[in-house]
Amino acid sequence: MLTGTSPDAIKPSVDVCHEADPYCEVFQNGQPVVAPVCLHRDPEGAFRVLSPCGVCLERLAADGACVLVAIPQPAALDEVQWITLRAALPHFWMLAFPEELEGW
Ligand SMILES: [Zn+2]
Repeated sequence: MLTGTSPDAIKPSVDVCHEADPYCEVFQNGQPVVAPVCLHRDPEGAFRVLSPCGVCLERLAADGACVLVAIPQPAALDEVQWITLRAALPHFWMLAFPEELEGW
């Protein structure tokens, strides 16, 4: 299990996602991403599960459609629901090139 965070940047457009840190580490170690989860804690200590952004979904695609993605439960935003990347990206643009997709 790897953890990551993202330092605040003065200009928000140059921020990186919190997931980028562990994605890079698994890449350096030659490991696959299996099941990333991103949590936000507010100042009162309550947690929320954050779905991966579109850029992170694209990053995860390299590890295949079976990667599990954490999204919040609709009725409880602090509880994780696991879905496959295939479910999170039903119209992935690379599906137009099936011969180039491994694990999809
Ligand atoms: Zn992201």
